[in-house]
Amino acid sequence: MGEVISPVDGAGIGVVPGCSVEDVDAAVSRAAAAFETWRHVAPGDRGRLLRRFAAQVDAHLEELALLEVRNAGHTIGNARWEAGNVRDVLDYYAGAPERLTGHQIPVPGGLDVTFHEPLGVVGVIVPWNFPMPIAGWGFAPALAAGNTVVLKPAELTPLTALRLAELARDAGLPDGVFTVLPGRGSVVGERFVTHPAVRKICFTGSTEVGTRIMAGCAAQVKRVTLELGGKSANIVFADADLEKAAATAPYAVFDNAGQDCCARSRILVQRQVYDRFLELLEPAVRAFRVEDPARETAEMGPLISAAHRDRVAGYIGGADVAFTGSCPDGPGFWYAPTVLLAGSPADRHWREEVFGPVVSVLPFDDEADAIRLANDTEYGLSGSIWTRDVGRAVRVARAVESGNLSVNSHSSVRYWTPFGGMKRSGLGRELGPDALHAFTDVKNVFIGTEE
Ligand code: NAD
Repeated sequence: MGEVISPVDGAGIGVVPGCSVEDVDAAVSRAAAAFETWRHVAPGDRGRLLRRFAAQVDAHLEELALLEVRNAGHTIGNARWEAGNVRDVLDYYAGAPERLTGHQIPVPGGLDVTFHEPLGVVGVIVPWNFPMPIAGWGFAPALAAGNTVVLKPAELTPLTALRLAELARDAGLPDGVFTVLPGRGSVVGERFVTHPAVRKICFTGSTEVGTRIMAGCAAQVKRVTLELGGKSANIVFADADLEKAAATAPYAVFDNAGQDCCARSRILVQRQVYDRFLELLEPAVRAFRVEDPARETAEMGPLISAAHRDRVAGYIGGADVAFTGSCPDGPGFWYAPTVLLAGSPADRHWREEVFGPVVSVLPFDDEADAIRLANDTEYGLSGSIWTRDVGRAVRVARAVESGNLSVNSHSSVRYWTPFGGMKRSGLGRELGPDALHAFTDVKNVFIGTEE
């Protein structure tokens, strides 16, 4: 922790000291004290403050986007969407405090009502691949529900989160309600897990770290939401609009340089159209624009770090490379989009999350075979199904064990709808109308009315 490097050219762009355990403890104490006030702010006023926060984000959208282009190498188009997503998620949940209704349950002898009580201090731990949106999916509903938040950005990408904390303060959020604490996972992140006043962890990152966090939370029966890895399937049936399926497949995996938990990094193609699909895919991959992410035309920037580029490259040795796209030479952690032909589902690049611009292609025979191959993974986050047969689309969507599926589209994330993984891709759901329930506990109150 310390120097922040731009993946675009490897240059240092700032120094952000990491917080110590003592810093975390002090911040959690402030957040716990702020909770006692924040939870009692009238719902309409809490909503108004979140709307003001959204307006601050909107007013600084271009600044935030440019910061992300520099810090994370995201294309300017994506980075604008990401900052806009923080604004939209804040606006969406700004309406929630006034709608956080419980039940009135008919019981004999009295009146029974339920309340959705905030938990207290919520710890949000964010990875480097989508620093802004993933932070917002945690802090916006958590704050709306009446919790206070401590948030740890990833070591490599702390800059936008720090700026968001300033914008929250400028919007008038009281001290201690939303605190960003940069630092190491093993220091700041672990302290969120072990600190008894942190009542919930909202973690997005690798399955390996998420598993440890869940075990750590168990010791205190701490609530936890986990958004973890993925190895999602893009299933292309012979009756699909093959031109569209092939033209869009690169975007479904190479967007954000493949550093996307929802990347459709396994393409399953029905055997009779396998050759034709690859013929159509090749020009789409070769045309994919990998360039300076600040350019309006960029479709992909560099990978996040030199170490990560080495890790991605480690999947190519011995693999059957069908074709690649291109990328700039010179400084920066560039990697060309790469299409691999899987010899069998046992291939390492077919099974493991590469988290880079690498996609594996495998033929299948029929619907049952497609479902079997799609489900032959420990992950279950997203996926796409391409077919013109509506019945098949519904059957396959129901059969694939995955939290977020799209038919004839590659959409995964919409803030109006729930998002999260099955199997080892995670636990719980973010976004959508029910997200507040992940940041509250239900309290039941019975009031006797008998004389
Ligand atoms: P990571 O697990 O290495 O780190 C994620 C965060 O956890 C970072 O802030 C890190 O500092 C922190 N951390 C590390 N060790 C910790 C510990 N012992 N205790 C507490 N916190 C700790 O993941 P990454 O490399 O930053 O991100 C890539 C991974 O995230 C990929 O596997 C990707 O699929 C996953 N991801 C999932 C989703 C989703 O919504 N399912 C979204 C984005 C990324």
